[in-house]
Amino acid sequence: MEKRLIKPDGSIVWVSATAAALAPIGENIMNHVFLVQDISERKQIELERKYISEHDRWTGLYNREYLESVLAKDIKLKKDSPKALIGINLNTVQFLTINYGFQYTQNLIKKAAEALSRHCAENCLLFQVSESVFVFYLFDYKKKKALVDFSYDISETLSPIFVTERIGGGIGIIEIEENQNEVDLDIDIDVDIDVDIDVDVDVDIDSLLRRLLIASERSLSFFGEDFEPYFYDQEFEALVNRERNIVEALAAIATDEQTNDELFLQFQPILDLKSGQICSFEALARLKTEKLGLVPPVEFIPIAEKTKLIIPIGEKVIIKGFQFLNKLKEYGYDEIGISINISCIQLLKPDFGTRFFKLMEEMEVDPKSICMEITESVFASDYEQINGIIEKLRDAGLEIAMDDFGTGYSSLARERELNVQCLKIDKSFIDMLVEPELEKAITSDIISMAHKLGHYTIAEGVEHHIQLQYLKEHGCDKTQGYLISKPLDEEIAIDFLKNYEKC
Ligand code: C2E
Ligand code: CA
Ligand code: CA
Repeated sequence: MEKRLIKPDGSIVWVSATAAALAPIGENIMNHVFLVQDISERKQIELERKYISEHDRWTGLYNREYLESVLAKDIKLKKDSPKALIGINLNTVQFLTINYGFQYTQNLIKKAAEALSRHCAENCLLFQVSESVFVFYLFDYKKKKALVDFSYDISETLSPIFVTERIGGGIGIIEIEENQNEVDLDIDIDVDIDVDIDVDVDVDIDSLLRRLLIASERSLSFFGEDFEPYFYDQEFEALVNRERNIVEALAAIATDEQTNDELFLQFQPILDLKSGQICSFEALARLKTEKLGLVPPVEFIPIAEKTKLIIPIGEKVIIKGFQFLNKLKEYGYDEIGISINISCIQLLKPDFGTRFFKLMEEMEVDPKSICMEITESVFASDYEQINGIIEKLRDAGLEIAMDDFGTGYSSLARERELNVQCLKIDKSFIDMLVEPELEKAITSDIISMAHKLGHYTIAEGVEHHIQLQYLKEHGCDKTQGYLISKPLDEEIAIDFLKNYEKC
């Protein structure tokens, strides 16, 4: 037996006592031997080791390992009481460390830790799970709203500390539910708590913390404001899982050497209003897998960009686009070109141009048949660099179009120096042409301004005759939209060409 004793002078001594019974002397009388040992020194080391293993060295807060063991225990023992985690993710810490050094950010973290500690209570423990992530573990609270109120309190505590340092962050909230682990990985964890309880818990704490982190990240991107609480719920779970499935599908396609049918292109005809002929097709990427069904590009392209998978995926799109171009040639449509959407991330990759030209050469594609569509917003951020890159592409004979024109921020004054031949007028301006009460002059102004600056124009999203009529009258060069045709599969696109009659 180990015992903590208090001596008369108030000091503490730890003893280990061992007792042994000797042979009986008489009927009921036993002889015992007691061995009492002072183990204070060993106990001190043990307690220190326990402290170190459960606390963050710098802030003195409980660490992740301890959170895991507390959760493992409580999930088993506090079955009927509500439990939740609130994660605070200070996202800009790394940036500050790079600029001002470790000492500086460590002091800030310490300040935050001290301020947050003031929110601790009997049913509310604070942990530091990584350098820049704090987690409150709350239990026995009354309602979900209590969690939100608590998060706002934290937000109020943190904001004044960070406002001068320009540190921001997100707050994620997750309630620990019984069936939590059914959605995701099912891992059994054996945890030894203290000395004598061996608990076998069927909850994946790691994935719980991962979700909490995702919710705090989502809080940042969703609200665009610091320290706004974001609840991790079923709907969000589905969203996160879907995003992960899309990433997995894209990654599989990206690494697949063979041509993969899950990524394919559809082609939307572009009509030249002067000649009345189809002059080219825009290649639009599609993703279709058994698990996900058909995923629209507005959903998977941003994910591909975020994960940089757009680089290999974009290359597959280019190759498939070139294959279509060669097919058109086979059918004798030599004059028809193709427009390919290129993301900023692809364009900024140093070897993008070299790789593109190599593919063109290998697949015997004429640069004059190719147009690259680059969205307007790209020019706003890296104007000089992007303009330089596209100048080289243009010199090689490619055509460059500015996509979604009118929605970005590019300054009209700069339009003159811009190395693009074509402005694609965004659908929002074309939509205005069907609303009787809306100002239509802006669309004709864009057309005439583009012409003055030496660009030609394509109107996007033309769905009605009235729009087409207006565009013809105001000298728009080309149009594209459902009125002419929706994006088509390869074979159907070729049939469409065969059957197309002059407008
Ligand atoms: P975007 O480049 O502006 O492409 C035009 C979008 O408008 C296409 O949507 C097209 O199907 C749709 N559209 C065309 N005509 C009409 C119309 O008359 N009415 C309506 N309501 N919509 C029309 P989609 O195919 O869903 O593509 C969405 C966006 O995804 C594209 O917008 C483009 O930004 C991006 N995207 C598609 N393929 C690729 C790709 O291979 N690479 C990159 N980086 N982005 C791509
Ligand atoms: Ca486009
Ligand atoms: Ca567009």
